[in-house]
Amino acid sequence: MLLYNTLTKQKEEFKSINPGKIGMYVCGPTVYDYIHIGNIRAYLNADTLRRYLEYIGYEVRLIKNITDVGHLTGDDINQGDSGEDKLAKKSLKEKKSPKEIAEFYEKYFKETEKEMNILPASYFPKATAHIEQMIKIINGLIKKGFAYEKNGNVFFDIEKFSQYGKLSGNTLENLKIGARLEEHPDKKNPWDFALWLKAPEKHLMRWESPWSVGYPGWHIECSAMSTEYLGETIDIHTGGEDNIFPHHEAEIAQTECYTGKKFVNYWIHVRHLLVNGEKMSKSKKNFYILGDIKEKGFNAMTLRLLLLSSHYRSNLNFTWKGMNQAKVNLQKISDFVLNLEIMAAQDLDIEISAKIPLDEFQKRFESAMNDDLNAPLALSVLYELINEVNKLTSAQRLPSKKSQEILSLWEKMNSVFGFKLNGQAEIPEEILELAKKRQHSRQEKKFQEADNFRKNIEEKGYLVEDTGTGFNIKKK
Ligand code: AMP
Ligand code: ZN
Repeated sequence: MLLYNTLTKQKEEFKSINPGKIGMYVCGPTVYDYIHIGNIRAYLNADTLRRYLEYIGYEVRLIKNITDVGHLTGDDINQGDSGEDKLAKKSLKEKKSPKEIAEFYEKYFKETEKEMNILPASYFPKATAHIEQMIKIINGLIKKGFAYEKNGNVFFDIEKFSQYGKLSGNTLENLKIGARLEEHPDKKNPWDFALWLKAPEKHLMRWESPWSVGYPGWHIECSAMSTEYLGETIDIHTGGEDNIFPHHEAEIAQTECYTGKKFVNYWIHVRHLLVNGEKMSKSKKNFYILGDIKEKGFNAMTLRLLLLSSHYRSNLNFTWKGMNQAKVNLQKISDFVLNLEIMAAQDLDIEISAKIPLDEFQKRFESAMNDDLNAPLALSVLYELINEVNKLTSAQRLPSKKSQEILSLWEKMNSVFGFKLNGQAEIPEEILELAKKRQHSRQEKKFQEADNFRKNIEEKGYLVEDTGTGFNIKKK
């Protein structure tokens, strides 16, 4: 499998450190607000990668952290260490403790992931539960001369790490000619970044440390948690493109200087989800959450399909028109699966002369995914399969065995796409059963019985329509 590695800026053949096993770290949410669909894009891509690695036989250990301290409001312009703590700010605004804020938004995050059918991480470690490990790493960095303390604050000295900038291109030289920073009086160099900050008097979150009562910088948490749960060198680390700098550049600097080893083999970054051409973000308040999507009458799987329909390394501009198109396509997939399920359950022992080259479809699906996770191309292979099957079934039924074979290919593909069709979109199981019985009666030419089923379905608030490929069920 080829994967584009931000570190080497090219597609590389993927090789795991240990045979058959993969350690993967996903930068998780800062839990001070609802996760928006841009964040979902980042987690969904990590999920697609994990699902495909499992599809080709790897066992994946995936760690996704919960940032509940240390992420400051100045991360867009600075080294991620200026401004106020995002959680503390929200907690003052909502008059709740930072812990309450974090728990509330963490719960929402997990519910959103579940609805999106994003497979749960092996573990979701919290930053606040790993302060001790962070202190240990910071201590080690000071001892080795990569970090310095002043007035209770500790900074990483980027001049000491000659490879600084290897991920983002922001070497010290390039930074010097770039934008100016707000200077911190204790920093030797404005581009040094904070490992530990002394807490101002009213700062809500504070811990004892050898340097001051304070709190950790944002970047150190990911080094602490990834080494704790995945070891010193990990296979894959993912995030959105805004994580490349300063966050991931800083993670590399502090981890590699501490361990003396390479930190991550493959860095995978998702381009941003845009709205009206601008990055969707919490701080710009131009975001949609899953609840907004559902309010407009779409379900989570429609969003999943929309997000999978563009390659993760191109920007995606979110539009409602795009959602409508995704809804049509999801319905097409649902109809296809339902039709096959009906035919597979019916003992149809008929002969057909037409051949559907299932092996070829599978190979094309795999080669799309092998090429840097080209999910949109893989989806187009699925649509082609659907069209081919539909063409056949508009004229004849398929033998049950054939339907089973196609269904099993669909299930393989769907272990990667991850659609939960939930009894076909939003149709309750009971209605679906009645529709299947009606279809069966029609095929046996018991039209009176079929009509009774239809009436029963209508009484329950749904309409059933016959199509070339089976039937559709709609809410009245
Ligand atoms: P945050 O909660 O801000 O730390 O973001 C969580 C994850 O979502 C990070 O990996 C970000 O890079 C990613 N992310 C944030 N905004 C977007 C966006 N508009 N499109 C894609 N990924 C995003
Ligand atoms: Zn991180």
